[in-house]
Amino acid sequence: MVQSSILGFPRMGVLRDLKKANEAYWAGKLSRDDLLAEGKRLRLAHWQIQKNAGVDIIPSNDFAFYDHVLDHIQLFNAIPERYSKHGLNPLDELFAMGRGHQKDGIDVPSLEMVKWFDSNYHYVKPTFQDGQSFKLGSNPKPIAEFNEAKAAGIVTRPVILGPVSFLHLGKADRDQSVKPIELLEKLLPVYEELLAGLKAAGAETVQIDEPILVYDLPAEVKGAFKPAYERLSGANLPKLVLATYFGDIVHNIEVLPSIQNLHGLHIDLVRNPEQLDTVIGAIGSSQILSCGVVDGRNIWKTNFKRAIETVEAAIQKLGKDRVLVATSSSLLHVPHTLTSEKKLDSEVRDWFSFASEKAVEVTIIAKAVTDGPAAVRDELEANAKSMQSRASSKRTNDPKVKERQEKVTKEMHERASQFPERYAQQREHLKLPLFPTTTIGSFPQTKEIRIQRNKFTKGEITPAEYEKFIEKEIDDVIRIQDELDLDVFVHGEPERNDMVQYFGERLTGYVFTTHAWVQSYGSRCVRPPIIVGDISRPASMTVKESKYAAQNSKKPMKGMLTGPITDLRWSFPRDDVHQSVQAQQLALALRDEVIDLEAAGIYVIQVDEPALREGLPLRAGPEREKYLSWAVDAFKLACAGVKDSTQIHSHFCYSEFQDFFHAIAALDADVLSIENSKSDAKLLKVFVDEAYPRHIGPGVYDIHSPRIPSEQEIKDRIEEMLQYLRPEQLWINPDCGLKTRQWTETKAALVNMVNAAKFYRAKY
Ligand code: GLN
Ligand code: ZN
Repeated sequence: MVQSSILGFPRMGVLRDLKKANEAYWAGKLSRDDLLAEGKRLRLAHWQIQKNAGVDIIPSNDFAFYDHVLDHIQLFNAIPERYSKHGLNPLDELFAMGRGHQKDGIDVPSLEMVKWFDSNYHYVKPTFQDGQSFKLGSNPKPIAEFNEAKAAGIVTRPVILGPVSFLHLGKADRDQSVKPIELLEKLLPVYEELLAGLKAAGAETVQIDEPILVYDLPAEVKGAFKPAYERLSGANLPKLVLATYFGDIVHNIEVLPSIQNLHGLHIDLVRNPEQLDTVIGAIGSSQILSCGVVDGRNIWKTNFKRAIETVEAAIQKLGKDRVLVATSSSLLHVPHTLTSEKKLDSEVRDWFSFASEKAVEVTIIAKAVTDGPAAVRDELEANAKSMQSRASSKRTNDPKVKERQEKVTKEMHERASQFPERYAQQREHLKLPLFPTTTIGSFPQTKEIRIQRNKFTKGEITPAEYEKFIEKEIDDVIRIQDELDLDVFVHGEPERNDMVQYFGERLTGYVFTTHAWVQSYGSRCVRPPIIVGDISRPASMTVKESKYAAQNSKKPMKGMLTGPITDLRWSFPRDDVHQSVQAQQLALALRDEVIDLEAAGIYVIQVDEPALREGLPLRAGPEREKYLSWAVDAFKLACAGVKDSTQIHSHFCYSEFQDFFHAIAALDADVLSIENSKSDAKLLKVFVDEAYPRHIGPGVYDIHSPRIPSEQEIKDRIEEMLQYLRPEQLWINPDCGLKTRQWTETKAALVNMVNAAKFYRAKY
């Protein structure tokens, strides 16, 4: 019989219960016992959902109050002393590492948090010391949660992060020189102890995640798998299923012989179905293969026919007893349940499947391959019908959009002239001083703005009243920018709820949910819009506000758009057409917007692409180049329709461009603003080395903190930047948008910023 399995379930609960409980606890409004009880209630509810769906292999230890990697840091006592020395209780110590702790005379910032592979989930980076040691605590979480499920009558398969990934995903603490992978010998006994404990508690099988196998790995990391898994396959230990996801493992196939003594292997066959044969050829003669055929990263209903074919192909070679049907990855990256969506149109609703629905899907596929399709005939028929409806729907197919895409030419991606000629015209046209000052787009999103937007959404105020309110907000930020004497103004984005949703709501091809939240980090959740069909722009999206702002301002007004790649990456994209096609559709819609803005008198237009880097394929090589090529094309197609005299800006929330600088340069943006205040100014060297000709605004202060940078500090920063950039190349701006800040600190910081710019203007 072919068993069904799930690699992990979302933690938040139907109504973001965990977020609410955590935040109430942090605010001192919920007791620790109540928070712990809420965690227990959620775990049980989630196991029950999977059990009721009929899932054979249900995970435990996938729950985390903050982040599962952080749980492992605590589990193995890899806690830097600055957190452990205060004698905090374990839960507060966990939160201190996750989000910092500033209370009762303790003031310690959080550990570093970074993106989990190419997802929008963030994990806390393990941070190791020279002389690091590890120790298993008294009631290890994986064992406690296994017992908790068992007491509720559910025998689970615990999930733990494997030792090689745990080390490789970590780093040496600041000022430390330890190489994480060299800690393996010290770490293994602790894993062994944990696994023995799980076995003693009754866990026959354990899922051990080694997702780093989808990366390009240095030799010493590849070499670590053999000693690690020789050690972890003793007779007193549970059977291990080693899980990989978010990519293929073919480039690391030489690692497989060294883990052939393990019970099995899980691979992601949604992302990389073509790896199946190679992996089957390389696994041990009695190893099982867990086939990830239900997408853990997207919200689409599984195409049963295709999934069954894939699983059957594995069964042909391995036999039914050596194959599992599984989700491609943990379901952490999809929302909890579709049943919460009361407002979705029934046509599109039928195309979706969230975590709870995916739990049912794995069981249907397992049944189909175990007992034959007749055993689930109704389900298969309904599924085929749904696939058919989506493929032929008017919503997914817009012949006009396709027609327009066919007419896209190479020339449409290029500006009329090269940068020097454009710059000459822009200088003439915009009359900007040396070291021009500007901001990145948003100004503080005050409580008042949120209240009015809410009223408007609920129909409590009329569109006209709301418009008036927005105009007043724009008037205010123009007046303030005037007083600050900035050089290029923005309208402040008061009308935007979110930089992606705002555009999605104005484009065809998108739908929106009411409860489809996914965890981004800690208690923070995002609710990405869903791209269901061909995208087009029925009417202009930002012209009204920008034009109003431009007409009321003496200085050049910067139009503000979210770029095609960011719109795509921060949504749930379609899985029925390539992402490059969706990006091009978005680009065409934005191209029209850019041209309309120019026609409305907006001669500086910023197209934000903060998500460009996170879309980078995980491995260097042809796939990455292919992505960069269509991503850059999308940006250029969106921007190139303007006259030479119109200045195109782009913005990125980081400054590590080393890996893909050629793509950043290829964007051909007249001005780039980037994050830089917390990074090493040395990162700017790449602009020198590559003889980057265009203009750059490296952020001169951090916008994530309420702290006001002094004028001197900003001058020092500019001085450093001038070691790498020519004066006429340098713009002066903050790191990013100011929407999360308060007005008082915003004004104070910008006064200092403008003064610093003026100082250099006088000097050069
Ligand atoms: N224009 C956006 C803002 O200022 C940019 C946000 C971002 O880069 N994430 O808020
Ligand atoms: Zn930014």
